[in-house]
Amino acid sequence: MNRKSKTKNKKTKRALVCGAGGFIGHHLVNRLRKEGFWVRGVDLKYPEFSKTSAHQFILGDLRDQKLCQRILDIPFDEVYQLAADMGGAGYIFSGEHDADVMHNSATINLNIAHYGTRVGIKKLFYSSSACIYPEYNQLDENNPKCSEESAYPAAPDSEYGWEKLFSERLFMAYRRNYGLNTKIARFHNIFGPEGTWRGGKEKAPAAVCRKVAEVKNAGRIELWGDGKQTRSFLYIDECLDGVRKLMNSKDFHGPANIGSDEMVNINQLAQIVIDLSGKKLTISHIKGPLGVRGRNSDNKLIYRKLKWKPKIPLKDGLEKTYKWISEQVDRTVRLIQ
Ligand code: NAD
Repeated sequence: MNRKSKTKNKKTKRALVCGAGGFIGHHLVNRLRKEGFWVRGVDLKYPEFSKTSAHQFILGDLRDQKLCQRILDIPFDEVYQLAADMGGAGYIFSGEHDADVMHNSATINLNIAHYGTRVGIKKLFYSSSACIYPEYNQLDENNPKCSEESAYPAAPDSEYGWEKLFSERLFMAYRRNYGLNTKIARFHNIFGPEGTWRGGKEKAPAAVCRKVAEVKNAGRIELWGDGKQTRSFLYIDECLDGVRKLMNSKDFHGPANIGSDEMVNINQLAQIVIDLSGKKLTISHIKGPLGVRGRNSDNKLIYRKLKWKPKIPLKDGLEKTYKWISEQVDRTVRLIQ
């Protein structure tokens, strides 16, 4: 058999992406398509900024058991459970959405674990979060501790984090009791083009890019808190490299951090964006929801197990993101005029 016909005969793998209308899900669909998967996407909404490349896209509510049964009507090689009720600090830490966040995301996860087990998925990816780590290890902005085993004794600082921890445990229990092959990653602040950049659900990198893009030269931007709170931010392409490596690994299941260990404070993040814009801007600090004082991804475990670590500096990812967000801002201004 020659090489060409061998490739032709290879069975096409099928993937289901829950949350395919969201930021990471949309990029993941594109990535899986490039890798040759047949992809079904599901979400409450279509991707906001460009057309989905999924072969099939089902609009529906994953809290609905009937929908979950319907979307799992064929045996998938890989299922990615990314759907969640979530947003940036302004959404998660205000306290106003706690009940919805917990109820909506937990219901989706309960449904997917249950119906996924019934239909016999080969592998299931679950996107957990750095928000599961205990607040008591993240009080010092220069020395946060977020290694995987430090998750317990549990004390996340948000209900979003508690739900993620519950769902990690749910998927691990299905793995133990029903042999569901689960893979769990804890994402740390993923950013990039085509992410939410306004409306209250945007995260720090997108919010900062928008503020800088909207203001005229010699103007001023506002940051929440004193700006000395630390974080790390991972560019979307790198996140997907990590996810795919985890899914392809035979015997590593996580939970594993997928994040950058290039820690900066929010003032530094803003300064990088300001420098990229070429504008001269001042920063003022105002009250706002903040989250933990310091956080950084600890990548020792995932590097040891999968040899994965981020390759591109924060500045390079921000450059691409700022370019995309300033185009959105310009377009909006043109529409208003
Ligand atoms: P996102 O909000 O852009 O995507 C989530 C998607 O889930 C949305 O499109 C939303 O419509 C969909 N969804 C919510 N409720 C639904 C329902 N009931 N039925 C069907 N679809 C529903 O978020 P994202 O940034 O792409 O994040 C993807 C996953 O990664 C989430 O689980 C999130 O908690 C996790 N995560 C993301 C980050 C990050 O920095 N982006 C960090 C940690 C964890």
